[in-house]
Amino acid sequence: MTDLDLRTPAALADAERWTAHNYHPLPVVIADAEGAWVTDVDGRRYLDFLAGYSALNFGHRHPGLVAAAHAQLDRLTLTSRAFVHDQFADFCHGLAELCGKDLVLPMNTGAEAVETGIKVARKWGYQVKGVPAGQAEIIVADGNFHGRTTTIISFSTDPDARDDFGPYTPGFKIVPYGDLAALAAAVTPNTVAVLLEPIQGEAGVLIPGEGYFAGVRTLCDDNNVLFIADEIQSGLGRTGKTFAIEHEGVVPDMYLLGKALGGGIVPVSAVAANRDVLGVLQPGQHGSTFGGNPLACAVGAAVVRLLATGEFQERSARLGALLHERLGELVGHGVLAVRGRGLWAGVDIDPALLTGRQAVERLAERGVLAKDTHGSTIRLAPPLVVTEEDLEYAVAQLKAILA
Ligand SMILES: *Cc1c(COP(=O)(O)O)cnc(C)c1O
Repeated sequence: MTDLDLRTPAALADAERWTAHNYHPLPVVIADAEGAWVTDVDGRRYLDFLAGYSALNFGHRHPGLVAAAHAQLDRLTLTSRAFVHDQFADFCHGLAELCGKDLVLPMNTGAEAVETGIKVARKWGYQVKGVPAGQAEIIVADGNFHGRTTTIISFSTDPDARDDFGPYTPGFKIVPYGDLAALAAAVTPNTVAVLLEPIQGEAGVLIPGEGYFAGVRTLCDDNNVLFIADEIQSGLGRTGKTFAIEHEGVVPDMYLLGKALGGGIVPVSAVAANRDVLGVLQPGQHGSTFGGNPLACAVGAAVVRLLATGEFQERSARLGALLHERLGELVGHGVLAVRGRGLWAGVDIDPALLTGRQAVERLAERGVLAKDTHGSTIRLAPPLVVTEEDLEYAVAQLKAILA
């Protein structure tokens, strides 16, 4: 129990009383928010350095996004894909252009985008590559996080995410993240795709060595294998570019997007790929009741317009440089290492000082909300609308809890 527990006992106890215990939230009960700041039920303000796992890249209640949502709520919210609505083409066209791909397939959650990517890659494998029926293999990396469905957790290496949820979906091979030789050795004639996060967020904001992704691209080209980039957390401005994979000078065959695509308002995810890949799907073979609904498309299109200006990518790059400079100053002073790109950092705190959980609890007491990952690693990912002052404040609090 921390001091924070005592501040909002009723709301916390109620939240615990009525829910499955599948999360262990910090003892903060948030009532409203704007930009990079949230306010709890007692009126205390916190800087949000998690940003909904990057679903809030544009900040809480971005005025343009809220306006787009309000306007759409007053006109049309749902049709199902049985009919076409007037927001659909605008969103899909804009997103396809942002991705530099021919086609887009909208879904809702990130896990659905991953599932869609897996289904499309397998169908492409059978119909285009000529893999024998039922033999398609997809290669993934250890330490991955791609979501929570039974198929996706089948290739997780995190015991918490995987254990006791079997039987597991076959068809996946797991290789060490960042190890090109291991990946090359795992490719067979039945390999249809390599599915990777350009930066592994849940694993602690891990970035593979220079040249890894260029090597992955070449390996995929040489073996007629699709490279699927899961940019659900790393994409849409987080790292200082539209897509994290751009830092590697590599273009994937398929982008998986989610989180920030919904502007922090509604769940919106999508797969983007060229016609030779996404074109394998025919009517009735895949779908979603809510995927591509009018409200989602109106918000998603507004998100795409924000990203098309490049303003948020530039902000993330510029402010990210400041964040990493400040965090770098803490290395050797309670911090063992810092990784990341743009406004995204994994910070390894000296385990002799604090666990990650203790660190985020103390940060919360000092008005900064962040999230631990494994052991003594915490991740920082403020909304891209955060100010220099906010960053300095947050890093000062981190410094204070390590003193
Ligand atoms: C969050 C996340 C997902 C899953 O998204 P949900 O919307 O929670 O289903 C998949 N991949 C990555 C990299 C993520 O960060």
